[in-house]
Amino acid sequence: MKACKKCHLMTDKNVCAFCNSPTSDQWQGYVVIIDPQRSRIAQAMGIQMPGKYALKVR
Ligand SMILES: [Zn+2]
Repeated sequence: MKACKKCHLMTDKNVCAFCNSPTSDQWQGYVVIIDPQRSRIAQAMGIQMPGKYALKVR
């Protein structure tokens, strides 16, 4: 599993399907965002779409 370097979205592809940024397999931890409008984590990370996001991506 990889994570986007820009938006942190988890994916198994080399390029993020959401923002077209390169992905990395150097990530730590993840959160599942179900309702971005009500999630403080999502707001802090600037997430607008439900999904699975890595907390740290190198
Ligand atoms: Zn992305």
